[in-house]
Amino acid sequence: PVRVRFAPSPTGPLHIGGVRTALFNYLFAKKHNGVFYLRIEDTDQNRFVPGAEQYIFEALEWLGIAPSETVGKNEKFGPYRQSERKPLYKQYADQLVNSGWAYYAFDTTEALDSWRKHYESKGETFIYNWKYNQQLDNSLNIFPTETEKRIAAGEAYVIRFKTPVNETLHLHDIIRGDINFETNLLDDKVLFKSDGMPTYHLANIVDDHLMETSHVIRGEEWLPSMPLHCLLYKAFGWEAPEFAHLPLILKPIGNGKLSKRDGDKMGFPVFPLEWKSEEGVSSGYREKGFFPEAVVNFLALLGWNDGTEQELFSLEELAEKFDLNRVHKAGAKFDPDKNKWFNHQYLQKQSDESLAEAFAPTLADKGITIEKDKLVRIVSSIKERANFVSEFWDLADYFFVAPTSYDEKAAKNWKEETPNLMQQLISVLENVGEFSSANIETIVKDWMTKNEIGMGKVMQPFRLSLVGALKGPHLFDIVELIGKEETIKRLEKAIA
Ligand code: GLU
Repeated sequence: PVRVRFAPSPTGPLHIGGVRTALFNYLFAKKHNGVFYLRIEDTDQNRFVPGAEQYIFEALEWLGIAPSETVGKNEKFGPYRQSERKPLYKQYADQLVNSGWAYYAFDTTEALDSWRKHYESKGETFIYNWKYNQQLDNSLNIFPTETEKRIAAGEAYVIRFKTPVNETLHLHDIIRGDINFETNLLDDKVLFKSDGMPTYHLANIVDDHLMETSHVIRGEEWLPSMPLHCLLYKAFGWEAPEFAHLPLILKPIGNGKLSKRDGDKMGFPVFPLEWKSEEGVSSGYREKGFFPEAVVNFLALLGWNDGTEQELFSLEELAEKFDLNRVHKAGAKFDPDKNKWFNHQYLQKQSDESLAEAFAPTLADKGITIEKDKLVRIVSSIKERANFVSEFWDLADYFFVAPTSYDEKAAKNWKEETPNLMQQLISVLENVGEFSSANIETIVKDWMTKNEIGMGKVMQPFRLSLVGALKGPHLFDIVELIGKEETIKRLEKAIA
């Protein structure tokens, strides 16, 4: 059975790349009727950030891709927070020491630093493994009895993995195919620290095993850890899950990985939700007015497509079509303008009622009251031009307040004869009975035809008087929505 996981470390707000990883896991689970669970990897207590865990849950909830098993929810394999699983890991580290797959090491940070510098000065990279081992202070170099004595005496130690020498590992990744790794280039990673905490590597493998993970789907930055992880499964005698490393998300312009700074510089969010910290506020997609469906949609296409030209997918459709074999390995460029286009599309799909409801608080703030069905019609007439509800006011302000200025270029349409024509128009409007768009249009057009007045001579100055510019939806819709009294008032003001 498919069981996949998202395993974030709560070290800050969830980056958009992390959300994409969660989404692909969610879709893969849905597609295969499997389980998507979330495990909090908080073994590195130095990097713990308050609020980050809550943020992760809230973000996934908002996007509609919450895990079905996690902290406080269907805790079948719980606890789902690694810090609460602490007592569990030592036995596994011991198991590896006893079977010869791991060893104790006592090197101080200073000693390691100086070795690193020593080799760097010779133009070499220091790798903590068999090649450089002789000089290092660990149980492979000292008698086991001495090792025991030093541990008993309370000396600080770590347990390191004993990487096999001179082996080529032939591994397979669903997205990248076959990959070979030379074990001689790997270092003997720390698995367990003397503070009693496992490192990411040990805890991750133990938990993926105990929680019966079938596939590890994660970002490309973890690819270098894959050989160690596969060796750990081998050392434990466990079957390894399948691996799929997702492509990087790249900057919109230039090269390299998308970073928080790109977002700040170019004014687009790289986080799902707003995040406030001592360093300031980072904007979020939710607060910018993105629909969660739009975010899910554009994230799904960062590294995946269904092989057709289709770009708009609902979450259900994605779950149906998603296929790890169609995820490419080349990095995926992040495109803020395209993201806005997606939001535009989803905005059009919303009901006019719900858009009106979303717009209402803006009007309330300005002290404007309006009947609900009128607002629904206003929203319906302008939404086509909007990417965000926050743009509604600029697109629709003339429905609520008379223009205070007239667009200069458009004012060229204001000719000598215009005031006279507008005066006549006022009289025509005054006599309109049923003040509906269609009826007003018929009457005004009849008047123009009878008097042989050209369309442009009336319509453009009319629009300019009501809107202040030559923009907006069908003019007679605007006239109806503004109402007879206000329409006439604006015409009079324009003539004056
Ligand atoms: N805790 C790791 C992270 O923060 C998880 C990596 C993995 O999925 O193995 O991304």
